[in-house]
Amino acid sequence: RTAPLVLEVDRVTAGYGGLTALSDVSITLRQGEVVGIIGANGAGKTTLCRVIAGLVPSKSGAVSLLGEDVTALAPHRRARRGLAICHEGRRLFTGLSVEENLDLGAALSGGSREEIKRRRGEIYGMFPVLAERANKSAGAMSGGQQQMLAIGRALMAAPKVLLLDELSLGLAPLVIETIYQALDHIRSLGVSIVLVEQNTHRCLSVADRVYVLERGHVSYGGLPEGLMKQDVLRQAYFGET
Ligand code: ATP
Repeated sequence: RTAPLVLEVDRVTAGYGGLTALSDVSITLRQGEVVGIIGANGAGKTTLCRVIAGLVPSKSGAVSLLGEDVTALAPHRRARRGLAICHEGRRLFTGLSVEENLDLGAALSGGSREEIKRRRGEIYGMFPVLAERANKSAGAMSGGQQQMLAIGRALMAAPKVLLLDELSLGLAPLVIETIYQALDHIRSLGVSIVLVEQNTHRCLSVADRVYVLERGHVSYGGLPEGLMKQDVLRQAYFGET
């Protein structure tokens, strides 16, 4: 009784000019799962997100979304099919209000006014600080609040699959805590999540399964517990940390 695949990356190779950032990478995401992607700086995590979103082309291999091959589709067409990405840099419209930013997130999804209002309410419930600042300028908020808004904006499109790239980068521990608590809420909305993290500990604590990227290759794919055991073994037998 396994849940259906919502995302599949099948033997993808990609890079920049002569540089190969990903080679032969395969990952899967099932409905309702949180799948973590961890790895050192430059291992290819962000590139993987970009390939999934269609922002970086793959040289070979395929990306499927909800059972459909989207390898040749432009980013906005993947978005319309249920993919949302929230990534580093979180480009908000800093001159617009919090609420305007949220509503722009729904622009591609074609929901009714009532439906959009309902989604907004859901997000305000998840991040009350956004409700308090609904009419304030997005640019006037702290980094953590902007990250919450970026997540909220991605959710306004009612995605089936949400890519979260480096959620906790540069944020204070308390903010990271709030955002991680929201992940459970997001999952309960029926959104499947790919969680890219440098913060391995955090990632392992919420992910159902994890993939480890090492220099563009998948070096581990499986349960977080399996990885912890492997690490313990490495330390015990090889003295590595
Ligand atoms: P980080 O956590 O530092 O973002 P990462 O695991 O996300 O690392 P990527 O950003 O995907 O790794 O980088 C993978 C490789 O591709 C690295 O060698 C990096 O230098 C290179 N790279 C990334 N973006 C570009 C780009 N726009 N142009 C050229 N090379 C790039």
